[in-house]
Amino acid sequence: QTALMEKIVSLCKRRGFIFQSSEIYGGCGGIWDYGPLGAELKRNLRTAWWNTMTREREDVLGLDACILMNPAIWKASGHVDTFADLMRECSLTNKRVRADHVEAQAGTVLTYTGAQAPNGWRWDRAISALLKNGEHIESFRKRIRTLIAQNAGESAGKPEEIELLNETKGETLEKTVDFHPETGGALGEARPFNLMLKTYLGPTATEADVTYLRPETAQAIFAQFKNVFDSSRVKVPFGIGQIGKAFRNEVTPKNFTFRSREFEQMELEFFIKPDEAVEIISGEVAKWSEGADLSEPQPNWGWELWHRYWVDQRTKFYEGIGLGDVLEYYWQTPEDLAHYARACVDILCEFPFGTEELEGIAARGDFDLSAHQTASTKSQEIFDEELKNAAVKLTDEQKEALIQKRLAAEAAKVKGAPMPEAAVRAWFERLFKGNYVPHVIEPSAGLDRMALAVIAKAFNETEKVDEKGKKETITVLRLHPRVAPIKVGVFPLLKNKPELVAKAREVYALLKKHMNCFYDETASIGRRYARQDEVGTPYGVTIDFDTLGEKGPELLDTVTLRHRDSNEQERVKISDLLGKLLPLVS
Ligand code: ATP
Repeated sequence: QTALMEKIVSLCKRRGFIFQSSEIYGGCGGIWDYGPLGAELKRNLRTAWWNTMTREREDVLGLDACILMNPAIWKASGHVDTFADLMRECSLTNKRVRADHVEAQAGTVLTYTGAQAPNGWRWDRAISALLKNGEHIESFRKRIRTLIAQNAGESAGKPEEIELLNETKGETLEKTVDFHPETGGALGEARPFNLMLKTYLGPTATEADVTYLRPETAQAIFAQFKNVFDSSRVKVPFGIGQIGKAFRNEVTPKNFTFRSREFEQMELEFFIKPDEAVEIISGEVAKWSEGADLSEPQPNWGWELWHRYWVDQRTKFYEGIGLGDVLEYYWQTPEDLAHYARACVDILCEFPFGTEELEGIAARGDFDLSAHQTASTKSQEIFDEELKNAAVKLTDEQKEALIQKRLAAEAAKVKGAPMPEAAVRAWFERLFKGNYVPHVIEPSAGLDRMALAVIAKAFNETEKVDEKGKKETITVLRLHPRVAPIKVGVFPLLKNKPELVAKAREVYALLKKHMNCFYDETASIGRRYARQDEVGTPYGVTIDFDTLGEKGPELLDTVTLRHRDSNEQERVKISDLLGKLLPLVS
């Protein structure tokens, strides 16, 4: 698998997809530049996301906010205080590493600090760092959970050594995990390390001027929620989507672009009514159940259904770019979840280095907007006329029943302090008048991870023996036509025949206004096909003597259209070419 990754990295450099940043100066850790083909690939993925998530929907609007913001936003969101990873000094390499990134070599002792570790560090990531060679992540997680549960009683204060078994292959991994629930141990004390990149905004470059490069795009959406709502005549439920750069001072950037320090996110905040508002308006809240119809959003859906709906929508999106069959889902357990989250599912994808997170879809309640409301003292509530009209029809008993239901739910909370009764009652008082802070479902995807995922999935190598008996390795990137950087290669059969060249140039000019094409007249036609196969170009158009009508008038102005994956060739009229190709590539 490492060899496969090396081949992918090498192809990306050789053919201009991805370069190491500042390479001539020895590089810059965790920062990558996209070359001509990488830029096109990313642009296609970005457009696919933007169109699917905003343009093609009536209920999502776009936003383009800045990277730099008032630092008060990062204080209110919790990033200044808690956006940290645990960092350790590795006793094997003496390197500073993220606690969950300690790669286990044969005989390595990996220290585990417990499921309740602070700052969002998750033990399951430590386990996934051990998973190599396509072992099944879920079966490992289950097994480790059971082992932790069995050992929980005795483990306080003393390390537990647990041998990991590779259940799918029936082999014993020669790795040992040293579990220590509170203190850590063999690898030195774990220290929190804030991932935000600091900078100065203003002339004095003192503490007073400190701000941060945004570690996520989402907070700008929350901070501009009211402006978008007030200026766009929308009603809840609706969403705001944004694509943009994010920066994290990752302790151990690794796996090529998978974990970078500068990357791009594509995030949607989808604002929904609190379940109580839905119940007041519709009489009941439609909840998730097995087999629920997620095709058409309904006004009486509760948060669980909205959450499932977005998992479903995002799955369809990934199917549409060719990743459908490499996805897995990890539903976070109540212990994994951040205290404000109601549910979170990680969409995982099979990469050459293991099955890892591609996107997270979280149900975040009203945590974010409420945090900004408190910190800024600016109301983030919206007024819902329909809710107000429905609430006036409620009897006092009905109102009290709603309050009691919520109080019971608060008391049963697994994480975080329950809301005090007075606060619950005050919240209902506002709700019955039609006012609430919307709740949110957040599908958050990484563009760079997505680009790497599609390249890795598409990478295909075969051995071929040429006419002289020489073995040759052929690389084909089977990229989905929708994301492929070049859609069509245009080739005159011979470059020294001016009529062929002129016709090919004409076809190229016709197509390139509508899609990214590549004109190539050098080397044999087979060689030219192979060059395009290697960068994932799905179609090739060859202009030959038949095109010029030399074999008779019926083939005049027709070309050969070659399909990369099937190697099939068909004869197509030049006048039909655009109409045939456009729907295939967009
Ligand atoms: P991870 O667990 O891999 O660190 P995360 O859970 O911290 O990711 P989120 O904060 O939920 O990630 O960010 C949403 C998405 O942004 C991720 O699913 C991923 O696609 C992308 N992303 C996050 N951090 C990075 C990074 N350092 N490099 C590239 N993409 C990233």
